[in-house]
Amino acid sequence: MTKINLDRYRGLRRVVDDTWINIHPIQRGGVLPPESREALISFGDGYSTCDLCIEGRVDLVKTPPILDFAGDVAKFLNMDEVRFTPGARGAKQAVFKSIAESGDTIVIDSLAHYTTYIAAEVNGLKIVEVPHGGYPEFRIKTEDYVAKIEEVRRKTGELPAAVLLTHVDYRYGNLADAADVGKIAGEYGVPYVLNAAYSAGVMPVDGKKLGVDFLICSGHKSWGASGPVGILATTYEFSGKTFRTSAIKGPWSGRAFLKKDVYLFGCPPVFGAPVATLMASFPHVVERVKHWDEEVEKIRWLVNELERIKDFHQLGERPRQHTLVTFETPSFHKVAKKHSRKGFFLYEELKKKKIAGVHAGMTKMIKLNSYGLTKEQLQKVADAFQDIARAYEVEVE
Ligand SMILES: *Cc1c(COP(=O)(O)O)cnc(C)c1O
Repeated sequence: MTKINLDRYRGLRRVVDDTWINIHPIQRGGVLPPESREALISFGDGYSTCDLCIEGRVDLVKTPPILDFAGDVAKFLNMDEVRFTPGARGAKQAVFKSIAESGDTIVIDSLAHYTTYIAAEVNGLKIVEVPHGGYPEFRIKTEDYVAKIEEVRRKTGELPAAVLLTHVDYRYGNLADAADVGKIAGEYGVPYVLNAAYSAGVMPVDGKKLGVDFLICSGHKSWGASGPVGILATTYEFSGKTFRTSAIKGPWSGRAFLKKDVYLFGCPPVFGAPVATLMASFPHVVERVKHWDEEVEKIRWLVNELERIKDFHQLGERPRQHTLVTFETPSFHKVAKKHSRKGFFLYEELKKKKIAGVHAGMTKMIKLNSYGLTKEQLQKVADAFQDIARAYEVEVE
């Protein structure tokens, strides 16, 4: 064997720990509450949730109570059946695979996550995009789902195989009108997929009320889980099809795997620590969604504070309906152009103040997420940005 330097892996620790304030856009909803940190250690060994697997499928395990958990998550989302998946992406992939055929067309919003595009690609689906309204709010024109469904019908002679809406998009943190699309999809009888990666688990989401056929969630994005783990929730109408079990038989051996999910590839494909942390965080998640309005209030406050800095403009809908926010920041970009560290100056200044999560090297636009941070922590964030502005002679109002 060629020599490998193993020392670099020894004593591995994360740099960003509890002593930092982390405003990373994708990380806030995935912070583990203390009880889940304990569960993570307890279930840290590989297939740890499989100690007492009688049925050969992780969602049917009774100790720990994964079977009950699946039922409780379905209740919480007001859907009928759930499976745990490798992230929101794994859920999307399974949905498309189960309800569409190669060559079919689906209608998606133009702020959809890249995994939506790739899930379509891997399944050989064509996509039609519903436009957004452009700068500065970039709102998805949900009413345009009608025109796009009609367009597909005109061009292909068939309705789209599905429509998908990204409930809260990852770029601007806009909260799209999911009920509106639910109504449109319902009228056409087209399966409706709601990507709730940034919504379910941090804010209340009621699948039936929104008219959703498939609700997709991300454990590590929004359910305080270590992941990778996602949730695919559906209704009785679709569960038989999407959660279809295996029918293949070995022609020589006669072996069959009748309990295994086909589209989810087996067991389903997540177990161990990801599922354990998702489960351990569930009481915390059920409680925290009740306090979503406080989170919205805090981000509105922070937006106001940051917009006191010259040329800081919040993009996306106004006022904020979600804690993920993007600003265009030409004043800081000007500083970066003259700075010896270029765009890295901001990242480095924030680092000195133990604030993590702003994309290193980026000053044209800044994206952050305030979810779960206290008012005091957000005050520190606001002060940090304002102090940095003053230090580089950018006006603060
Ligand atoms: C992060 C994100 C995803 C991917 O979620 P995974 O659980 O990591 O697969 C999908 N969609 C949206 C809108 C996201 O923001």
